[in-house]
Amino acid sequence: CGQCLVNCPFGAPQDTVDVVDKVIDKLKNKQVTVVGTIAPAVRVAIGEEFGMEPGSLVTEKMYGAMKQAGFKVLDTNFTADQTIMEEGMELIAKIRHYALGEPSEHHLGPLPQFTSCCPAWVRYAELYYPELLPNMSSAKSPMMMAGALGKTYGAKEIWKVDPASVFMVGVMPCTAKKFEASRPEFNSAAHYWQTQGKSGSYPDIDVVLTTRDLARLFKKLNIDIKTVAEFSDKDNPLAQYSGAGTIFANTGGVMEAALRTAYFVITGKELDVLEFKPVRGLKGVKEASVTMKDAKTGKEVTLKVAVAHGTKENVKPLLDEVKAGKSPYHFIEIMNCPGGCVNGGGQPINPMGTSWLDKAKAVLPWS
Ligand code: SF4
Repeated sequence: CGQCLVNCPFGAPQDTVDVVDKVIDKLKNKQVTVVGTIAPAVRVAIGEEFGMEPGSLVTEKMYGAMKQAGFKVLDTNFTADQTIMEEGMELIAKIRHYALGEPSEHHLGPLPQFTSCCPAWVRYAELYYPELLPNMSSAKSPMMMAGALGKTYGAKEIWKVDPASVFMVGVMPCTAKKFEASRPEFNSAAHYWQTQGKSGSYPDIDVVLTTRDLARLFKKLNIDIKTVAEFSDKDNPLAQYSGAGTIFANTGGVMEAALRTAYFVITGKELDVLEFKPVRGLKGVKEASVTMKDAKTGKEVTLKVAVAHGTKENVKPLLDEVKAGKSPYHFIEIMNCPGGCVNGGGQPINPMGTSWLDKAKAVLPWS
């Protein structure tokens, strides 16, 4: 996880520099443009590290603290919207082909489609259900999209700096995101710059700070989230986002956001309230069904979707059903942590004495 500085019980190579000090060094270097990409779940949790109530939404204070520390911001909510568009369009292509019988010129993965933004879930599938990897959405996670965007469009059009000087910091509720950032395949900015005649490695994300790491960084720089001047960054196009991007942090959020996009594109209408019901016999799994009428052909299709959180306890029976070809679902969201990213491994460790369920309830009115 990158946090053990002395003895990793699993023998991982040791990084002797604290990741927080590494980022502070970059922030002090005027030749480097340090960009923080902040996940939705961080802004409802970091206040706890500064004595605020669990669930306090501190977006403008966090932006103010990031500015004071010297970060530029590319909000992960912005790229969560992009992920939703990508996943939604991928799902639409499959619905049109498999459920509405339209021909397709492209190779489409099978249904059900799985969400792919949780690196712990992706790794679990790689190790224990490799035969289901073709079902995984091909969209990469919002953090990795933010990294590629920051080192291409952001460097060129927003900060107007050499892309090699951009240092992308993922600020995440999640320790698994440190592993995701280290995967060598996530260097799409390098592919782009190669086409422009620039060589270099350009990893999409250079370093991941968890919510606790970011709190530690602010404390080292004597910045207090409670008292810092608020900042909205409203002129920054990379800090704009919809409500869909925001609900990414919650279990069911990725599913609902992508499904709303698919529904709108197919029917031309907005989806009403989406009601999830617990699936009998499968703890921690909820399902919903949505009937859509194709605005072009008038054909109707009823989509069944499921959301599951807590990989170890809840997901296996759902995957065994898919493997056996008996799954009734078209789209399945899986988040490793109970309640979703709001309860990720990088979040504050209960400084207010609240349970994970209390924290989830503070930000999930329907939980
Ligand atoms: Fe990370 Fe947990 Fe969110 Fe998965 S559900 S991305 S492991 S915080």
